[in-house]
Amino acid sequence: MMIDTHCHLLREDYENVDEIISHMGNNIMIVCGTNPKNNLEVIELCERYPNIYGTIGFYPGELEGLTEKDFKLLEEQLQLPKIVGIGEIGLDYHYGQDNKSEQKKWFEKQIELAQKLDKTIVIHSRDAAEDTYEILKQHHIENNRVVMHCYSYSVEMAKKFTALGVMLGVGGVVTFHPDNTLSRVVKEIDIDHLLLETDSPYLTPKPYRGHKNEPKNVEIVAEKISEIKGISKEKVLFSTTSNAVRQFDLDIKVC
Ligand SMILES: [Zn+2]
Repeated sequence: MMIDTHCHLLREDYENVDEIISHMGNNIMIVCGTNPKNNLEVIELCERYPNIYGTIGFYPGELEGLTEKDFKLLEEQLQLPKIVGIGEIGLDYHYGQDNKSEQKKWFEKQIELAQKLDKTIVIHSRDAAEDTYEILKQHHIENNRVVMHCYSYSVEMAKKFTALGVMLGVGGVVTFHPDNTLSRVVKEIDIDHLLLETDSPYLTPKPYRGHKNEPKNVEIVAEKISEIKGISKEKVLFSTTSNAVRQFDLDIKVC
């Protein structure tokens, strides 16, 4: 069994979402929302497919125009049984820092909501390692279930985040270069702290670069991790699946 812990399966990205989902067989997908509109699509997919769970939230790049009403609705939607987490939420300074305080405000508000409802926190963090770490530390997230999706920072930061109990999502980037930062993170960090993801439709692994990514490629990520760590693919799948079940508090038995 394998779990793609982070993918976006929106109608606007795929001609036939149902077909893409069928490629996963009985394997599990955790579909991620980023704004009020596509959060609804996530909820709909969770209702239609037994092997799909969802996380919903407000992405740092899409905060414009959000209101308190949206936040209230998010709180209600988070109570749905198959909505297992809040996210992706976080900080993204890649395109500038002029709305830094707005990003921090929504990030903290959503962390506090996750803590109130005991939901998993799914973090997007880009070019903002220090601020992300400080906010998590200030909020004492060691008592929560936290995932940092598409982990992209150093080995040193990975050690600091995992010490807080954060799980690191590893995706297609690990296949891009034989010795990139993420490969070093995968080598150094224990498998007990790693999760598989695709971030579909983005970040397609080698050798399918140039094509749209899809959840079934999560197996390629597992193969790459097995190669880097020198352990069997079965061991990678079993460990990462168990980690995901625990970190998202999923009601399934790992086999
Ligand atoms: Zn994503």
